[in-house]
Amino acid sequence: MSANTPPRLSVPVSLEFFPPKTDEQRDTLEKALPTLKALQPDYVSVTFGAGGSTLSYTPDTVCHLREQHGLDAAPHLSCMGGTRAEIRSLLQLYRDKGCRRIVALRGDLPSGMASYGDFRYASDLVGFIRAETGDYFHVEVAGYPEIHPQSDDAQADLANFKRKVDAGADGVITQYFYNPDAYFRFVDDARRLGVQVPIVPGIMPITNYSQLRRFSELCGAEIPRWVARRLQSFGDDAEAIREFGIDVVSGLCRRLIEGGAPALHFYTLNRARATVAIVERLRG
Ligand code: FAD
Repeated sequence: MSANTPPRLSVPVSLEFFPPKTDEQRDTLEKALPTLKALQPDYVSVTFGAGGSTLSYTPDTVCHLREQHGLDAAPHLSCMGGTRAEIRSLLQLYRDKGCRRIVALRGDLPSGMASYGDFRYASDLVGFIRAETGDYFHVEVAGYPEIHPQSDDAQADLANFKRKVDAGADGVITQYFYNPDAYFRFVDDARRLGVQVPIVPGIMPITNYSQLRRFSELCGAEIPRWVARRLQSFGDDAEAIREFGIDVVSGLCRRLIEGGAPALHFYTLNRARATVAIVERLRG
């Protein structure tokens, strides 16, 4: 380690990006990458648009990050609307590019798309990946400490989660949350059911309240009332929102690490500032 390299956290960090589609988005990601790379992420992952809407952008971005930036980039692969043949050829493409890790998801049915395709649930996709490629890929799946938004039965959701891990997952990345107890309870419940794989909390930095509220409504993440009230009170003061967000999220991360979280997975939204500030705060 050189004198200028900041110390690493006590747990590994991974970073999630979405695949840029426009020159402007590509530019934003390119500008963020040097600072994010300095965090020495264990790996980075690239999301996959619902119903294949980023069919070429995801592999292109994965290849770019691997080849031009030397990052261990892993694709997300969602099966909703996809056929076995499409998934098979993506698996082959990622093998050819040297990827050893995949984040396997069901995805959501985009409006206007009538058919689920060849797979109904993420557990079907995980089973297919194992049947097609054996142990070649390290497969991550999604977990929901605050319950999947389409599930009206928390126990059934947990049983479905276990079924997905049993189909052959090596690890879990959770949906974001701001209540650490939801994560600790989820891990305890999963362990009680016999799930042994690492469960890594997904961390969403807070930078923009209206965007966060929109995302949270869609994915079922709860913004604690006191956090929402404080964010509302800042109005358009972006700097105050940013400072408060760094405080809240670095406090959350500290509690997660102290409570035994094996790593942190940051939803960067292709921007560096908030994620880097949180990690620096944790190091300080
Ligand atoms: P599943 O595990 O299949 O679960 C979906 C629902 O079906 C749950 O309610 C579950 O309880 C239920 N269920 C599962 N199995 C059964 C069964 N056998 N019988 C009855 N019910 C069942 N979306 C994207 O489109 N692209 C991405 O790149 C992406 N990345 C993500 C990364 C992470 C870390 C997370 C947490 C989410 C991501 N998502 C992504 C969102 C995800 O696709 C949605 O949350 C989706 O609604 C569920 O996907 P899943 O893989 O968790 O589905």
